Parts: sequence; structure tokens; C-alpha cells
Amino acid sequence: MPASLENWIDGAACPPSTAEYSTGINPSNGKPTIDIAASGDADVHQAVTAARRSADAWRHHPSAERGRILHRIADSIRENADHLADLEVEDTGKPRATALGEVENSAAYFEFYAGLVNLPVGDVLDVEPNQHIFTKREPYGVIGVITPWNVPLNQAARAVAPALATGNVVVLKPAETSGQTTIALAELASRAGLPDGVFNVVLGAGSTVGTAIVAHPDVRKVAFTGSVRTGQAVGRIAAERIIPLTLELGGKSANIVFDDADLDLAAKEAVRAFAANAGQVCSAGTRLLVQRSIHDFFVARVAEIAGNLREGQDVGPMITRPQFDQVQEYFDLARQEGAHALLGGSVSERPELSGGLYVQPTIYAGVSRDMRIAREEIFGPVLVTLPFDDEKDAVSMANDSDFGLVAGVFTKDIGRALRISDAIEAGQVFVNSWSTGAVQTPFGGHKKSGYGREKGIEAMHHYTHLKSVVVVY
Ligand code: NAD
Repeated sequence: MPASLENWIDGAACPPSTAEYSTGINPSNGKPTIDIAASGDADVHQAVTAARRSADAWRHHPSAERGRILHRIADSIRENADHLADLEVEDTGKPRATALGEVENSAAYFEFYAGLVNLPVGDVLDVEPNQHIFTKREPYGVIGVITPWNVPLNQAARAVAPALATGNVVVLKPAETSGQTTIALAELASRAGLPDGVFNVVLGAGSTVGTAIVAHPDVRKVAFTGSVRTGQAVGRIAAERIIPLTLELGGKSANIVFDDADLDLAAKEAVRAFAANAGQVCSAGTRLLVQRSIHDFFVARVAEIAGNLREGQDVGPMITRPQFDQVQEYFDLARQEGAHALLGGSVSERPELSGGLYVQPTIYAGVSRDMRIAREEIFGPVLVTLPFDDEKDAVSMANDSDFGLVAGVFTKDIGRALRISDAIEAGQVFVNSWSTGAVQTPFGGHKKSGYGREKGIEAMHHYTHLKSVVVVY
């Protein structure tokens, strides 16, 4: 009989008002893990009420003390890294080294924002005699945070740390299948001295719990990470309520390789770009644009490196059954569109992985830009490659997308790298590496990849609003 995972409300574990649970499944072996609270509207209301009750005191908590608590949360995440990694591996099946890296990154968010608690200061705008005008940044109050299942702890930390640092209180809903580390984070935060009610977690379905959070009249801002379709649904409610949103959505990011690049480095990075976390990364580099003169040679090298990835060790499973099914639908679609699979193209054939949701790292070479597999986010370890002729052609192909999350460019010509960085429609551009940068680097999208920014000092502006005070004397 699996144990149960309860909501965390007002500093304590709370069974759901519905008395209903769903069963968590380990995607690497199909075995049940834990019964997960399937909460309802009443639980969201309870969490928002607890958050609201604690909001004033937290906002006026001395900021240095807020910073010390965030530091203790960072320390506690590190002290419990093994346990958190175990939970993340159980929920997502990802390689343990990947989970440990994400745990460390989660600690880094709390550490970074702990040091910035005094930052959101304002300006003095005294331009007339007998007037004193100043601006100040203030917390919104209750922030609703909704996260997906691909990097659960990290995505929770990315939103919660700046929200708390700026004096907000939080009600968070993790994805239905992967809430263990978020609940553990809330417990650790309470033990680290975070006052009751400041950080609450409600588990359950998006259509009930997620909708109830966005619609709750006391939730003043929502930070959403997930798919475009859900982002649109969240956006419709937020538009009715006139509340601000941060939307971190999907991508189909272009990785551009010129013939003058360090091709060994570019090939290794191209594999990391599409296969890390089994491709279940919003910022995955899944469109590889290669200069025509080197396309076939370079793509063969990428396929050789990707072919050496060990399924089950280097490449984890699809984290949810719907995602597993979706990737297989794209394999079928690729066949219908006449794409040539240079590598992979089906579920894993390794007998020892048959109980899990594994697919093969897959490369479709030389596809055309109007194919659906070249345009839609697959969210699995699936790469398409397209040849281009020159810089202008590369930029036009890269920008020919509904998305604009990230892009990569590999070249030894720094002028070209900067011209491309300028012309690309994406929130971040990586030059000669595939890295989103550390916690201090703002992150977010253009076009259907979303709006607003997480990470960095920039996030603190998105978790506060500006007030102008005009004093005439
Ligand atoms: P999803 O949109 O299905 O779910 C995301 C979250 O929204 C989950 O917690 C879910 O329960 C909740 N939800 C579902 N329906 C809802 C509703 N009607 N109202 C409110 N909440 C609702 O996305 P997913 O399948 O879990 O995640 C994959 C997607 O997330 C991909 O498109 C990926 O690109 C994107 N993603 C983006 C980033 C980023 O930072 N840009 C990071 C990771 C993942």
C-alpha cells in the first residue's frame, strides 16, 4: 500500500477535502509510487486564505531576516540533496546525476534571491520645487504558481525564491504526477523558519486546482510554466480578472551551425541540446540548422554521438504516459511526412526497459521546414536537421517559427555571432555552447513561448509592482 502525499497548507500536511487520491507511477518501471492528493476548490480556498492571512506580516518582516530564512532554505536543500534527488528520480525517472544537478540549482535560486532582498528599491524624481516624488516596488500579495512535470523542484524554486524574497506569499500547484519534491521543499522551508502560510502547495488536477488558483479573487498574480494551450486557458481567466501573468511556455528552438565552427564542440553541444532530460526541456535545441556545405558530414557526426547515448542511463524515460504517446504519434507523423530517420524513430527496443516509458534518441535528417515535425514542439529526444545556405537564410529559417524561446549559434566569427544574436527572435541566444546560464540570467520567451521573465534580477520586477508617491510640501 503506497504512502500518501498530502497538501501543505499553513505550515502543515493537509489531506484533501475531497478525500480523493491518484496513484503516482514511476515512469522508468511503471510501478506505483505514492498516492497523491486530488484536491478540489475548497483546498485552494483554504490555501489562499492561509496565504492571505500571512501576507502582511511577511511583507513587513525585516528584509534581512527574510534573506536569512531564504539562506537557510538553500542550506537545507543542499543538506537534503540525496533525499530530494531520490524523490525526483522516483517521480520523473530521470538520471540521478541530472536530478542532483537540478537540486543544486534549486538551492542556488534561494541563495541568489536571499542576497537581493533589499534590491527592489525605487527612484527619486524630484524635478519641481516643493515636491518630493518617489517610486517604490511592492509585493503583489498572494502569487499563484503552476509548474509542469519535467523539472519539478527547479521550476518551483525558480518562482518561489524571488516571490518570497520580494515579500509575496505563494500558493503553488505542481503537475499532478510529480509533486513529491515540491511538498518536500515546502516542509524544508517551514523547518528553516518560514512562517506558516507563506508557502502553500495544493496537489491535484490542472482543470480543477489550477483553474481555481487562477480564478481565486485573492490571487493577485500568476506565474505559469507549461504548454501553450494551458497558457492560453490561464490567460483567458487572467484577462477577465485583469491580473498579471508570467507565461513560460514551449519552444522549437533553432541551433545554427556554420562551417567555420569548432565542429567537434558543436556536435557534442547539438546532442546535449536535444537529448538532455530526454528532450523534455522547454529550451531544447530541436531544430538543427547546418550550413549546406557541411550538413551531411556534421549530422552524421551528431548521429554517431547521439547513438552512443545509453538508453535508461544517459537518457531517461518520457515522464508521463500522455507524453510517451505523443512522441510515438510524432514518430508516426514523421513516417507519413516521408522523413528519413537517421537514428532511432521508435520506442526503446531494450527488453530491460520495456516496463518504462522509453523512446530512442531520434534524428530526422534534411527535413523540409514546412513539415509538422519541423514546426511543432515534440517534447522528446527528437531532432530535425535542415540545411541552410548563408547567414540570411539561417536567420530566416530560425525565425520561421511560432515560438521564440532560445536559439544557438556556432561560429568562430564573433561579428556573425553578434549579428545573428541581434536578428534572432528569441528570449535568449547561446553562442558556442548550449547553456541557459546560471540563476542570474533572465529567462523567458518571445512569440508563443510566452512573456515575462523568470530568473535574475529581472524576475524581481515581475514579482513586484511599482507605486509612485507624490508629496507636495
Ligand atoms: P501543461 O500545460 O499540460 O501543464 C502544466 C501545469 O498546468 C500542470 O501543473 C497542469 O496540471 C496545469 N494545468 C493543466 N490544465 C490547467 C488549467 N486549465 N488551468 C490551470 N492549470 C492547468 O504542460 P505539461 O505537459 O505539464 O508541460 C510541458 C510543457 O511545458 C511544454 O510545452 C514545455 O515546453 C513547457 N515548459 C516550459 C518551460 C519554460 O520555462 N518556458 C519549462 C518547462 C516546460
